[in-house]
Amino acid sequence: MAIVTLTNVSRHYPAPTPGGDSVVAVDNVTLDIEKGDVFGIIGYSGAGKSTLVRLINALEPASSGTITVDGVDITALKERELRGVRRGIGMIFQQFNLFAGKSVHANIAYPLKLAGWSKADIAQRVTELLAFVGLSDKAKAYPEQLSGGQKQRVGIARALATRPAILLADEATSALDPQTTHEVLELLKRVNEEQGVTIVVITHEMDVIQTLATKVAVMEHGRVIEQGPVFEVFSAP
Ligand code: ADP
Ligand code: ADP
Repeated sequence: MAIVTLTNVSRHYPAPTPGGDSVVAVDNVTLDIEKGDVFGIIGYSGAGKSTLVRLINALEPASSGTITVDGVDITALKERELRGVRRGIGMIFQQFNLFAGKSVHANIAYPLKLAGWSKADIAQRVTELLAFVGLSDKAKAYPEQLSGGQKQRVGIARALATRPAILLADEATSALDPQTTHEVLELLKRVNEEQGVTIVVITHEMDVIQTLATKVAVMEHGRVIEQGPVFEVFSAP
């Protein structure tokens, strides 16, 4: 079953200079992400990957086309309804985006507080997440006291806190060294296999796709120029 479907989706931005051509960041993209997939989106800088993520996450509207998330056509929703859609999608980032002034525990607890969980439920869930990402001894630490890999593991725990069905990883290992990258990718594999979370991985790194993804879409100049199982798309010609 498809959990995210894009049908003929485009996103234009106004021309950077008056009278110039508008920028077509995403150009007539059609793709299907199945429940349980680890779906990679690869392309060079400027290919339109981040724009695609913001469209899927309902952070900005499509200029044309339809996007469905979990069976709901999000292009037809109002702002208030979009908040519900966003709650079903966890995000992790290249620069981790942790709250520097909050402890590891408080970072992970944050989305649960927003969602109105009780203190007891939050404590239990955070303990469970810390164990899952292997940071039970770091609950009271602050982000600046952690390595890059540890920070990203906190990011993953925070993104999963409210049990989203989808995790969007936007260049999530691009700031990490190869060994740490490998550890984070292994953790994401477990998120997919043990928790059944559908993962969308945006990257410019082929290694990330080959280690983690089962399917891939290759983007160039806003278009998906190829998509399918990783072994087919990247098999030698
Ligand atoms: P990628 O994530 O693959 O590097 P982006 O989605 O960031 O690509 O960018 C795709 C294209 O859209 C680029 O030409 C970029 O300059 C342009 N673009 C992205 N965001 C905006 C914006 N908010 N306003 C205008 N142009 C944008
Ligand atoms: P805040 O509103 O700043 O998040 P809290 O009252 O939730 O404050 O928690 C105060 C501090 O104690 C936070 O830094 C939080 O990370 C930490 N904390 C709360 N519960 C636990 C716990 N069960 N284990 C470890 N640290 C905790």
